[in-house]
Amino acid sequence: VFNFAPGPATLPESVLLRAQSELYNYRGSGMSIMEMSHRGKEFDGVIKKAESDLRALLGISDDYAVLFLQGGATTQFAAVPLNLCAGPDDAADFIVTGSWGDKAYKEAAKYCRPNLLWTGKPAKYTAIPPFDARSLPQNPDARFLHICANETIHGVEFKDYPVPENRDGILVADMSSNFCSKPVDVSKFALIYAGAQKNVGPSGVTVVIVRRDLIGKAQPITPVMLDYKTHADSASLYNTPPCFAIYICGLVFEDLLEQGGLAEIEKKNAHKAGILYDAIDGSGGYYACPVEPSVRSLMNVPFTLQKSELEKKFIDEAAKEGMVQLKGHRSVGGVRASIYNAMPLAGVEKLVAFMKDFQARHP
Ligand code: PLP
Repeated sequence: VFNFAPGPATLPESVLLRAQSELYNYRGSGMSIMEMSHRGKEFDGVIKKAESDLRALLGISDDYAVLFLQGGATTQFAAVPLNLCAGPDDAADFIVTGSWGDKAYKEAAKYCRPNLLWTGKPAKYTAIPPFDARSLPQNPDARFLHICANETIHGVEFKDYPVPENRDGILVADMSSNFCSKPVDVSKFALIYAGAQKNVGPSGVTVVIVRRDLIGKAQPITPVMLDYKTHADSASLYNTPPCFAIYICGLVFEDLLEQGGLAEIEKKNAHKAGILYDAIDGSGGYYACPVEPSVRSLMNVPFTLQKSELEKKFIDEAAKEGMVQLKGHRSVGGVRASIYNAMPLAGVEKLVAFMKDFQARHP
C-alpha cells in the first residue's frame, strides 16, 4: 500500500529490507541489535555513525550537541523552558501557527512566562504571520522565541524564519514533521527538536540539536532526564537509549546521504507536493486546501471536498485501492495526505489519478 499516515509514517523500503536482513544477526555478531548492550562496540558504532551522518546532512557544526532522547517531541515542550529559562519568572515568546505550537505554548506556562506573539487560531491555522518587527514586536527580555516549523495537522510550513529579537537571539523550532525534508541553516537556530517518526525513523527517539553554550543552565527543578547536560555529557548514553530506533534512524540518514543529501530530497518533495496541490487547485473547487499558498507544507497536505458528505467515501475508496491513512486529524476533519521523504512519487501520482477519477464518478 501507499501509506499517507502523519506519523508513525512510511519508511524507505530499502531501509526496512536492510533492517530485516540484519534483524536476527547484526553484521555477523550472532545477536540482534535489540539484544546488545548499549555500551558495547557495535552499538557505539551505530550511534556515532548516526550522529556523524546527521551532522553531514544538515551541516551541523561542532558548536552544537546532537542528542538522541526519549519522550517524544511532547517532552521537549517542557524541556525547552526548563533548560533555557533560569526560573518560572523568565519570559519566552511563542508564534503559534497550529495545534502543536499551541501545545508547546501551553506546556511552557508551567516553567516560564510564555507570551503569545501571534496565533493563527482565529483563522483556523491557515497562515504564518509577517515578520516585520513593528507588526510583531518581540519581547527583548524573552529567553527564546519558539516556532513549530511545520504544523502537521494544519499543513502550514515556515518557508523562512523569524529573526529572534530577544536578549540572546535565541530561536527554537519544533521540526518534528519536516526534519530532514530540506536543507536548513542550523546556525539560525539555538535549538531544534524533532520526534523521529515522520521523516527519519520509528517512534521512540527524539533528536535534539542544541547550541553547546546553552547547555548546563537548566532550572534546579529540572528532572535529570530532561536536562540537556545529562545527555550531552554522556553522548546520549546516560541511561538505556532507544537503541533499535536510533539504529533505524542511522539507516535513514545513510539513505538520505546516498540520495544526494537534503537539497536533492527537497527537490523531490517539492515536485511531489506540487503535483498534489496542482490537482487540488485545478479541480474547479471540487477539492480545496484552506492554507495560504505561500506557506503550504511540502509534507502534510490537508484538503476538503466541496461535498463534504463524500469525504468518507473518498477515504474508504482510496483505501480499497491501496492508499491508506488519508483521514484528516480528528480536530479538523477532511482529508490529509502526508507525503514525507519516503512517500514515492508513484504514491502521489496514484492519489492524483484517483482524485480525478473520483471527481468524474461523483460530479
Ligand atoms: N510536534 C509536531 C509538529 C508533531 O507533528 C507531533 C506529533 O505528531 C508532536 C510535536 C508530538 O510528538 P510526539 O508524539 O513525539 O510527542
